[in-house]
Amino acid sequence: MWDEEYDVVIIGSGFAGLSAAIEARRLCSSVVVLEKMAVPGGNSIISGGLFAAAGSPLQAQENIDDSPELMLADMLAAGHDFNHRDLAGIVAEKSAETLQWTIDELGVKYRPKLSHLGGHSVPRTYNTANTSGSGIIRPMLVKCREMDIPIRLKTFLSQLITDESGAIEGVAVIEDYIFPNRESGIGKRIRAKRAVVMAAGGFSQDKKFRAIQNPMLTEDIECTNHRGATAESLIIALKAGAIPVQLSMIQLGPWASRDEEGFGVGSMFSMLAGFPYGILIDLRTGERFVNEQADRKLLVDAMLNFDRESIAIVDEMGVRHASTLEKCLKRGVVRKFDTIEELAIANQAPLIPLKATINAYNALIEKGRDDQFGKPLPKDLLPLKHPPYYSIRLISKVHYCMGGIQINTRAQIIRIDTQQPIGRFYAAGEIVGGIHGASRLGSNAITDCIVFGRIAGGNAANEPPRP
Ligand SMILES: Cc1cc2nc3c(=O)[nH]c(=O)nc-3n(C[C@H](O)[C@H](O)[C@H](O)COP(=O)(O)OP(=O)(O)OC[C@H]3O[C@@H](n4cnc5c(N)ncnc54)[C@H](O)[C@@H]3O)c2cc1C
Repeated sequence: MWDEEYDVVIIGSGFAGLSAAIEARRLCSSVVVLEKMAVPGGNSIISGGLFAAAGSPLQAQENIDDSPELMLADMLAAGHDFNHRDLAGIVAEKSAETLQWTIDELGVKYRPKLSHLGGHSVPRTYNTANTSGSGIIRPMLVKCREMDIPIRLKTFLSQLITDESGAIEGVAVIEDYIFPNRESGIGKRIRAKRAVVMAAGGFSQDKKFRAIQNPMLTEDIECTNHRGATAESLIIALKAGAIPVQLSMIQLGPWASRDEEGFGVGSMFSMLAGFPYGILIDLRTGERFVNEQADRKLLVDAMLNFDRESIAIVDEMGVRHASTLEKCLKRGVVRKFDTIEELAIANQAPLIPLKATINAYNALIEKGRDDQFGKPLPKDLLPLKHPPYYSIRLISKVHYCMGGIQINTRAQIIRIDTQQPIGRFYAAGEIVGGIHGASRLGSNAITDCIVFGRIAGGNAANEPPRP
């Protein structure tokens, strides 16, 4: 009745799935990773590679006082206390050791300087050397090869198979699957002697499903995710009895560019330079309207309010922090101007109010405090007066699902009727709900995925083997 058998079967080859696989393989004899797409890595491989850690070596080097308690407080503030605290606390607590694991065990290379992302009280974000999640996923794939962990591409989880007690005993899959054609491929059944780990990511690209959860997210709203970020695995887990948590909490990214599709290269420009070192301007008024370093929800709400069309402006000093600048300029996502006058004309912004806004902002920088919107000013921030100037046209795009299925601190999936763990069934990564509450802070997803991926993989491998 079974075609194959492994100790641990993992669904999804992103940060969560691969870290679960590596941890499980360390503890048991056989692990397989199933991936429906033709390439591995899901959203993880196209991500920005920003990794938040509290109490890291770079923080020590830069004399930044941080702690897991402060990171948790930031997560709760952004999440409006919708967060499941016990899970969020584990992410914060294990953030620095998990970062170190990526360096020691995987050989991931990071840039030598921290970034300060919106909603974090202090700079705590590492950047991979290549400014991409591929800087972590590729070393993970190498590790999987070294450890003899097969990654089966074009292999789609179509059903979970349970035993008489309701525990998960294996999976039905479609091999040679051509996403999204459900008629493609050939069926197979794989037994999990110990456990199954769901690491199938979020559903931001599932336009119908996301609109059911949040009708404001109409199908015309663009998305930053890979094509395969759809809801079928979540639905399979729900059918197996998992508790849905906060499925309508879906995050928009406020930093995306109007002039390219998806996440592109502009998002990182805004995140690393435009927002911390520049200003956000309402094109109708030429004025600032928000703390540029607020969390994503506050920013998106402010941008969508009154249908604002906004741009970020940064000068030659601030733009040094933008690792994607060259690509942005080449693709016309960011434009460069010798003067503010030229920038105003090209963006159809009212010049006199814009100049007044910049002068007022520079006065705040000289004073060392943003009395207007409470933006935390970076230590190395200089007045915005060094030409040339750069602008990016912004639009919010669907980016991340805070909602998903419920797990406990051991990453076991919880059953809706008994509120007890479903036997031999674990989850990690974006498919899990509740950790980030109403709004996830930038760079906390990678931390979350790897922290809970390792927990899920370790506990799955420690399940007693079935006879
Ligand atoms: C463009 C972009 C940039 C980002 N940048 C950052 C950043 O810099 N820092 C940060 O912290 N967060 C970032 N995020 C968020 C973060 O990258 C994601 O939350 C994270 O990668 C999710 O990892 P995961 O392992 O849970 O899922 P994924 O990486 O999406 O992997 C899940 C995999 O499961 C597969 N799958 C799904 N269903 C099935 C099925 N039925 N059968 C088989 N396979 C299946 C999918 O195809 C996918 O490959 C970014 C997100 C995006 C989209």
